[in-house]
Amino acid sequence: MGRFQIQWKMYMENVSKIKPVGTEWEIKFKCEKCKEVSSTFAVVDEEEEMEIPGSRGVCNLVIKCKSCKNNGNINIEKSSVQPYEDENENFKPLVNMECRGLIPEEWNINGMFEGEGSSENKIEEIELVEKEWSGYDDENDAAILISDVDYQIVKIK
Ligand SMILES: [Zn+2]
Repeated sequence: MGRFQIQWKMYMENVSKIKPVGTEWEIKFKCEKCKEVSSTFAVVDEEEEMEIPGSRGVCNLVIKCKSCKNNGNINIEKSSVQPYEDENENFKPLVNMECRGLIPEEWNINGMFEGEGSSENKIEEIELVEKEWSGYDDENDAAILISDVDYQIVKIK
């Protein structure tokens, strides 16, 4: 079993505290046994509960490797999700997950995000799939820019 963390970074102008809105994470996994990487993104829902085959435990998603038929499973550590608010554009923790038999390889950043404007007002419907986003904060009369969105996946203890 391994614990992994998605870390992310971005440049932000007139917006802070960017965080994901939904509970679903689209991730490509590598099979720990045969090292095959899935060709499509798996959708891992934090709210989903599935039984782990041959065990009493539950997880968010069970994936059977198409090549070697090995079973793997994933659990998102729900309380680990953190907003991004670093002005220095360093990689910061976004979410932790526990994986058995699988290694997360890629994250598809196609969900919705929300942030905070300069008066702590909510900025909604931010999309980061293009790695940049621009919008307008009506409340503070300010143009918002998010760019250079990037992520990495690291193994943690
Ligand atoms: Zn496999």
